[in-house]
Amino acid sequence: MDYRKLAQKYDTPLYVYDFGEVAKNYAAIKKAFKARKSLIAYAVKANSNLSLLKLLANLGSGADCVSIGEIKRALLAGIPAYKIIFSGVGKRDEEIAEALEKDILYINIESEAEGHRVERIAKELGKVARISVRVNPNIDPKTHPYISTGLSENKFGVDIDTAKRLYLLAKKSPYLSPVGIHFHIGSQLTELGPIKEASAIVADLVRALQKIDIDIKFFDVGGGLGIRYKDEKTIEPYDYAQGILSTLSGLDVTIVCEPGRFIVGNAGVFLTRVLYEKHTGSKRFIIVDGAMNDLLRPSLYNAYHEVEVVGKEGEGEPADVVGPVCESGDFLAKDRPLPPTQPRDLILVKSAGAYGFVMSSNYNTRPRPAEVAIEEGKDRLIREREHFEDLIEKEIRFMV
Ligand SMILES: *Cc1c(COP(=O)(O)O)cnc(C)c1O
Repeated sequence: MDYRKLAQKYDTPLYVYDFGEVAKNYAAIKKAFKARKSLIAYAVKANSNLSLLKLLANLGSGADCVSIGEIKRALLAGIPAYKIIFSGVGKRDEEIAEALEKDILYINIESEAEGHRVERIAKELGKVARISVRVNPNIDPKTHPYISTGLSENKFGVDIDTAKRLYLLAKKSPYLSPVGIHFHIGSQLTELGPIKEASAIVADLVRALQKIDIDIKFFDVGGGLGIRYKDEKTIEPYDYAQGILSTLSGLDVTIVCEPGRFIVGNAGVFLTRVLYEKHTGSKRFIIVDGAMNDLLRPSLYNAYHEVEVVGKEGEGEPADVVGPVCESGDFLAKDRPLPPTQPRDLILVKSAGAYGFVMSSNYNTRPRPAEVAIEEGKDRLIREREHFEDLIEKEIRFMV
């Protein structure tokens, strides 16, 4: 890919996504589950650009959404309602009502209170809410604590006993229809053991529910499949699928899988330009025009992204790649032996397709970057760069 040309045409900082790679990743996970009926419900929160969602819609993908806004994006992009799932620990009444009105596949229930809330809203609307219950299997996923969700100390899901109570409530209620069961133990999972363990626990619950005449159709295994940022050993989609399927003997269920990072993470890069270098005492800083407001993962999780100086080989004194934002936590990379740089050199930050643009903000009154798609060798703008006027639009008229 000619990053120099892209930077010249669209300016920096810039997100670039390889749509061919996205399609390839989608196909890999779909194929891995081919032994069963499956729905791949892409986790919209990883990257919610409408053009990306449209690409996935055309491939047959569903969507896992965590707000009504994401549901509206998915629908707008052409993902049919019957392939949309509404997850998340906290849903507003209006969001639940709108999801019911749009007749999505099911709502994931994450607490008893929420189960009662959904029942009440369905009753008010004269609807039957299809639901699944998010079970917290209390498994340590062995990932970063900020992205671990499957331990009882996390805010997500309910324990097995509470899940059973919720299913009984749903069975009795004319306004709830329990169609699914769900677990999602964390993100960036690189070990199969915890996934299999969780799946086995949840599969046992499905069997127990069968015995009391509650028939679960959708076995929703969440997302979380990890990708290689540096040198991590990752799980092959086939092994991941086999690990899950091996726990489902005797069960006639449709697999729902909600990958986010796996689909887009390594299909995207972040391009930023060097402003200048700065040497203070023993430290070398490469100051670039992209910052934590554009790509938050390094600051938020101390996440590692591979970094290259475009067109320059070799190594130099270890440098921190930092942005212009007024926070010491504003860095994109630390202690990298990068070659000496000149102003306007391009820095390529890899694996930035997931949880990149979506986590960006306007901190320091910085307009958010543009997003570009590469399709069959051609580049196409899929979100224009923000301008100062966009940033003040919601406040300027209130200034008296
Ligand atoms: C975040 C999330 C996902 C996607 O996680 P990835 O690690 O990006 O695959 C899927 N399902 C639920 C419920 C989530 O919260």
